[in-house]
Amino acid sequence: MTTDFDLTGKVAIVTGGNGGIGYGIAQGLAQAGADIVVAARQPAKNAQAITNLQALGVRALSVSTDVQDETSVQAMVEASVETFGHVDILVNNAGINIRKAPQDYTLEEWQQVLNTNLTGVFLCARAVYPYMRQTGGGKIINIGSMTSIFGSSVSPAYAATKGGVVQFTKSLAVFWAKDNIQVNAILPGWIHTDLTASASPERYDSITIRIPHGRWGEPDELAGAAVFLASRASDYVTGIALPVDGGYTSK
Ligand code: NDP
Repeated sequence: MTTDFDLTGKVAIVTGGNGGIGYGIAQGLAQAGADIVVAARQPAKNAQAITNLQALGVRALSVSTDVQDETSVQAMVEASVETFGHVDILVNNAGINIRKAPQDYTLEEWQQVLNTNLTGVFLCARAVYPYMRQTGGGKIINIGSMTSIFGSSVSPAYAATKGGVVQFTKSLAVFWAKDNIQVNAILPGWIHTDLTASASPERYDSITIRIPHGRWGEPDELAGAAVFLASRASDYVTGIALPVDGGYTSK
Protein backbone atom coordinates (compact mmCIF):
# COMPACT_ATOMS: atom_id res chain seq x y z
CA MET A 1 0.00 0.00 0.00
CA THR A 2 1.34 3.45 -0.91
CA THR A 3 1.15 5.98 1.89
CA ASP A 4 2.30 9.56 2.36
CA PHE A 5 5.34 8.12 4.11
CA ASP A 6 6.38 5.83 1.25
CA LEU A 7 9.85 6.64 -0.09
CA THR A 8 9.95 4.08 -2.89
CA GLY A 9 11.86 5.49 -5.88
CA LYS A 10 13.52 8.21 -3.80
CA VAL A 11 17.28 8.54 -3.34
CA ALA A 12 18.66 9.72 0.01
CA ILE A 13 22.20 10.81 0.82
CA VAL A 14 23.01 10.39 4.52
CA THR A 15 26.27 11.97 5.62
CA GLY A 16 27.80 10.06 8.51
CA GLY A 17 25.42 7.25 7.55
CA ASN A 18 27.82 4.47 8.49
CA GLY A 19 27.04 4.39 12.22
CA GLY A 20 25.19 5.93 15.15
CA ILE A 21 22.27 8.23 14.42
CA GLY A 22 23.11 8.42 10.70
CA TYR A 23 22.82 4.68 10.30
CA GLY A 24 19.61 4.62 12.36
CA ILE A 25 18.14 7.20 9.98
CA ALA A 26 19.50 5.45 6.86
CA GLN A 27 17.88 2.23 8.01
CA GLY A 28 14.54 3.95 8.56
CA LEU A 29 14.62 5.63 5.15
CA ALA A 30 15.52 2.29 3.54
CA GLN A 31 12.68 0.54 5.34
CA ALA A 32 10.38 3.20 3.87
CA GLY A 33 11.72 2.27 0.41
CA ALA A 34 14.46 4.81 -0.35
CA ASP A 35 17.76 3.95 -2.01
CA ILE A 36 20.62 5.17 0.17
CA VAL A 37 24.00 6.81 -0.34
CA VAL A 38 26.21 6.40 2.72
CA ALA A 39 28.70 9.29 2.74
CA ALA A 40 31.38 9.23 5.43
CA ARG A 41 35.16 9.03 5.69
CA GLN A 42 35.87 5.42 6.69
CA PRO A 43 35.46 3.06 3.69
CA ALA A 44 35.26 -0.16 5.74
CA LYS A 45 32.45 1.21 7.94
CA ASN A 46 30.67 2.54 4.84
CA ALA A 47 30.93 -0.87 3.16
CA GLN A 48 29.45 -2.66 6.18
CA ALA A 49 26.59 -0.16 6.35
CA ILE A 50 25.62 -0.57 2.70
CA THR A 51 25.74 -4.37 2.98
CA ASN A 52 23.25 -4.12 5.84
CA LEU A 53 21.06 -1.65 3.94
CA GLN A 54 21.03 -3.76 0.78
CA ALA A 55 19.76 -6.65 2.89
CA LEU A 56 16.62 -4.54 3.44
CA GLY A 57 15.92 -4.77 -0.30
CA VAL A 58 17.02 -1.31 -1.45
CA ARG A 59 19.97 -0.15 -3.50
CA ALA A 60 22.82 1.40 -1.54
CA LEU A 61 26.03 3.14 -2.51
CA SER A 62 29.06 3.95 -0.40
CA VAL A 63 31.02 7.10 -1.19
CA SER A 64 34.07 7.99 0.89
CA THR A 65 33.40 11.61 1.76
CA ASP A 66 34.82 14.30 4.00
CA VAL A 67 32.08 16.90 4.45
CA GLN A 68 34.68 19.55 5.29
CA ASP A 69 36.11 19.29 1.80
CA GLU A 70 34.36 21.06 -1.07
CA THR A 71 35.82 18.78 -3.76
CA SER A 72 34.93 15.63 -1.84
CA VAL A 73 31.34 16.81 -1.31
CA GLN A 74 30.91 17.70 -4.98
CA ALA A 75 32.26 14.29 -6.01
CA MET A 76 29.88 12.58 -3.56
CA VAL A 77 26.83 14.26 -5.09
CA GLU A 78 28.02 13.57 -8.63
CA ALA A 79 28.62 9.88 -7.83
CA SER A 80 25.10 9.67 -6.36
CA VAL A 81 23.51 11.20 -9.45
CA GLU A 82 25.63 9.07 -11.79
CA THR A 83 24.54 5.89 -10.00
CA PHE A 84 20.89 6.63 -9.25
CA GLY A 85 20.01 9.48 -11.66
CA HIS A 86 18.72 11.90 -9.02
CA VAL A 87 18.94 12.97 -5.37
CA ASP A 88 15.69 13.59 -3.52
CA ILE A 89 16.70 13.63 0.14
CA LEU A 90 19.80 14.90 1.92
CA VAL A 91 20.39 14.16 5.60
CA ASN A 92 23.19 16.35 6.96
CA ASN A 93 24.12 14.20 9.92
CA ALA A 94 27.95 14.03 9.97
CA GLY A 95 29.25 15.60 13.16
CA ILE A 96 32.07 15.68 15.66
CA ASN A 97 32.67 17.14 19.09
CA ILE A 98 35.76 18.44 20.87
CA ARG A 99 34.94 18.95 24.55
CA LYS A 100 36.92 21.80 26.13
CA ALA A 101 36.46 25.11 27.90
CA PRO A 102 36.22 27.98 25.37
CA GLN A 103 39.56 29.43 26.49
CA ASP A 104 41.35 26.12 25.86
CA TYR A 105 40.49 25.61 22.17
CA THR A 106 43.20 26.07 19.61
CA LEU A 107 42.01 27.85 16.49
CA GLU A 108 42.54 24.60 14.59
CA GLU A 109 40.25 22.65 16.96
CA TRP A 110 37.58 25.35 16.80
CA GLN A 111 37.72 25.34 13.00
CA GLN A 112 37.61 21.55 12.78
CA VAL A 113 34.31 21.48 14.68
CA LEU A 114 32.86 24.36 12.66
CA ASN A 115 34.03 22.97 9.34
CA THR A 116 32.50 19.55 9.99
CA ASN A 117 29.25 20.46 11.73
CA LEU A 118 28.30 23.73 10.05
CA THR A 119 30.33 24.33 6.89
CA GLY A 120 29.71 20.67 5.98
CA VAL A 121 25.95 21.34 6.06
CA PHE A 122 26.42 24.35 3.78
CA LEU A 123 28.64 22.46 1.30
CA CYS A 124 26.32 19.45 1.04
CA ALA A 125 23.16 21.55 0.75
CA ARG A 126 24.74 23.74 -1.91
CA ALA A 127 25.93 20.70 -3.86
CA VAL A 128 22.51 18.97 -4.00
CA TYR A 129 20.53 22.15 -4.69
CA PRO A 130 20.85 22.24 -8.51
CA TYR A 131 19.83 18.59 -8.80
CA MET A 132 16.83 18.97 -6.51
CA ARG A 133 15.78 22.11 -8.30
CA GLN A 134 16.08 20.39 -11.65
CA THR A 135 13.82 17.50 -10.59
CA GLY A 136 11.19 19.78 -9.08
CA GLY A 137 11.98 19.61 -5.38
CA GLY A 138 13.56 17.76 -2.49
CA LYS A 139 13.95 17.34 1.23
CA ILE A 140 16.90 18.41 3.36
CA ILE A 141 17.13 17.30 6.98
CA ASN A 142 19.83 18.83 9.17
CA ILE A 143 20.79 17.28 12.48
CA GLY A 144 20.97 19.76 15.32
CA SER A 145 21.12 18.95 19.04
CA MET A 146 19.84 20.00 22.44
CA THR A 147 22.70 22.51 22.23
CA SER A 148 20.83 24.15 19.36
CA ILE A 149 18.61 25.43 22.18
CA PHE A 150 20.63 25.31 25.41
CA GLY A 151 24.14 26.52 26.17
CA SER A 152 26.63 23.76 26.84
CA SER A 153 28.80 23.31 29.92
CA VAL A 154 31.18 20.98 28.06
CA SER A 155 31.11 21.66 24.29
CA PRO A 156 31.00 25.37 23.39
CA ALA A 157 32.26 25.01 19.80
CA TYR A 158 29.82 22.17 19.15
CA ALA A 159 26.95 24.22 20.62
CA ALA A 160 27.86 27.16 18.39
CA THR A 161 27.63 24.93 15.33
CA LYS A 162 24.34 23.38 16.38
CA GLY A 163 22.77 26.78 17.01
CA GLY A 164 24.03 27.77 13.57
CA VAL A 165 22.57 24.65 11.98
CA VAL A 166 19.06 25.65 13.08
CA GLN A 167 19.37 29.24 11.87
CA PHE A 168 20.84 28.05 8.56
CA THR A 169 18.00 25.54 8.25
CA LYS A 170 15.45 28.35 8.55
CA SER A 171 17.23 30.48 5.95
CA LEU A 172 17.49 27.59 3.49
CA ALA A 173 13.80 26.90 4.03
CA VAL A 174 12.97 30.50 3.16
CA PHE A 175 15.28 30.69 0.16
CA TRP A 176 14.37 27.37 -1.40
CA ALA A 177 10.62 27.20 -0.72
CA LYS A 178 10.07 28.50 -4.26
CA ASP A 179 11.95 25.45 -5.54
CA ASN A 180 9.74 23.06 -3.56
CA ILE A 181 12.66 22.07 -1.35
CA GLN A 182 11.64 21.64 2.29
CA VAL A 183 14.47 22.13 4.78
CA ASN A 184 14.01 21.08 8.39
CA ALA A 185 16.11 20.10 11.40
CA ILE A 186 15.88 17.26 13.87
CA LEU A 187 17.22 17.93 17.35
CA PRO A 188 18.16 14.62 18.95
CA GLY A 189 18.20 14.43 22.71
CA TRP A 190 20.76 12.21 24.41
CA ILE A 191 21.36 9.15 22.25
CA HIS A 192 23.62 6.13 22.80
CA THR A 193 26.32 6.36 20.09
CA ASP A 194 30.13 6.47 19.85
CA LEU A 195 29.89 10.26 20.20
CA THR A 196 28.39 10.06 23.68
CA ALA A 197 30.05 6.84 24.88
CA SER A 198 32.74 8.75 26.76
CA ALA A 199 30.28 10.45 29.16
CA SER A 200 31.32 9.81 32.76
CA PRO A 201 28.84 7.82 34.90
CA GLU A 202 28.11 10.99 36.91
CA ARG A 203 27.34 13.03 33.80
CA TYR A 204 25.31 10.18 32.30
CA ASP A 205 23.17 9.98 35.43
CA SER A 206 22.73 13.74 35.79
CA ILE A 207 21.44 13.87 32.19
CA THR A 208 19.17 10.84 32.62
CA ILE A 209 17.49 12.34 35.65
CA ARG A 210 16.48 15.37 33.57
CA ILE A 211 14.86 13.30 30.77
CA PRO A 212 11.12 12.84 31.38
CA HIS A 213 11.25 9.44 29.63
CA GLY A 214 13.87 8.46 32.21
CA ARG A 215 16.33 7.02 29.70
CA TRP A 216 18.64 7.91 26.83
CA GLY A 217 17.43 7.27 23.26
CA GLU A 218 18.67 4.76 20.67
CA PRO A 219 19.78 5.71 17.13
CA ASP A 220 16.79 4.03 15.46
CA GLU A 221 14.42 6.28 17.44
CA LEU A 222 15.34 9.16 15.11
CA ALA A 223 14.11 7.24 12.07
CA GLY A 224 10.41 8.07 12.36
CA ALA A 225 10.99 11.83 12.40
CA ALA A 226 13.40 11.50 9.48
CA VAL A 227 10.94 9.48 7.38
CA PHE A 228 8.25 12.08 8.07
CA LEU A 229 10.52 14.98 7.06
CA ALA A 230 11.75 13.07 3.99
CA SER A 231 8.30 12.16 2.73
CA ARG A 232 5.28 13.69 1.06
CA ALA A 233 3.64 13.80 4.50
CA SER A 234 5.74 16.89 5.32
CA ASP A 235 5.29 18.80 2.06
CA TYR A 236 3.83 21.82 3.90
CA VAL A 237 6.40 21.68 6.71
CA THR A 238 9.57 23.72 6.33
CA GLY A 239 12.02 25.53 8.57
CA ILE A 240 11.16 23.65 11.75
CA ALA A 241 13.49 22.20 14.37
CA LEU A 242 11.89 19.04 15.74
CA PRO A 243 13.18 17.74 19.08
CA VAL A 244 13.29 13.94 19.44
CA ASP A 245 14.42 13.97 23.03
CA GLY A 246 12.23 11.98 25.41
CA GLY A 247 10.78 15.29 26.61
CA TYR A 248 14.13 16.88 27.60
CA THR A 249 13.24 20.29 26.14
CA SER A 250 9.86 20.33 27.88
CA LYS A 251 11.28 20.19 31.38
P1 NDP B 1 28.89 9.10 15.76
O1 NDP B 1 30.24 9.53 16.23
O2 NDP B 1 28.38 7.75 16.11
O3 NDP B 1 28.77 9.29 14.19
C1 NDP B 1 29.32 10.39 13.53
C2 NDP B 1 29.27 10.11 12.05
O4 NDP B 1 29.78 11.24 11.35
C3 NDP B 1 30.11 8.92 11.65
O5 NDP B 1 29.39 8.19 10.71
C4 NDP B 1 31.35 9.54 11.02
O6 NDP B 1 31.87 8.65 10.04
C5 NDP B 1 30.75 10.80 10.42
N1 NDP B 1 31.69 11.90 10.21
C6 NDP B 1 32.42 12.57 11.14
N2 NDP B 1 33.18 13.51 10.56
C7 NDP B 1 32.92 13.42 9.23
C8 NDP B 1 33.41 14.13 8.10
N3 NDP B 1 34.32 15.10 8.21
N4 NDP B 1 32.93 13.78 6.89
C9 NDP B 1 32.01 12.82 6.74
N5 NDP B 1 31.52 12.12 7.78
C10 NDP B 1 31.98 12.43 9.00
O7 NDP B 1 27.92 10.23 16.32
P2 NDP B 1 26.32 10.34 16.41
O8 NDP B 1 25.68 9.32 15.61
O9 NDP B 1 26.01 10.50 17.83
O10 NDP B 1 26.14 11.78 15.74
C11 NDP B 1 25.48 11.98 14.50
C12 NDP B 1 24.94 13.39 14.49
O11 NDP B 1 23.98 13.52 15.53
C13 NDP B 1 25.99 14.47 14.73
O12 NDP B 1 25.71 15.60 13.93
C14 NDP B 1 25.79 14.80 16.20
O13 NDP B 1 26.21 16.10 16.50
C15 NDP B 1 24.30 14.64 16.32
N6 NDP B 1 23.80 14.47 17.67
C16 NDP B 1 24.14 13.39 18.43
C17 NDP B 1 23.61 13.24 19.71
C18 NDP B 1 23.88 12.07 20.58
O14 NDP B 1 23.44 12.07 21.75
N7 NDP B 1 24.56 11.03 20.12
C19 NDP B 1 22.73 14.26 20.27
C20 NDP B 1 22.46 15.35 19.38
C21 NDP B 1 22.98 15.45 18.15
P3 NDP B 1 33.41 8.59 9.62
O15 NDP B 1 34.22 8.59 10.88
O16 NDP B 1 33.54 7.33 8.82
O17 NDP B 1 33.65 9.81 8.78
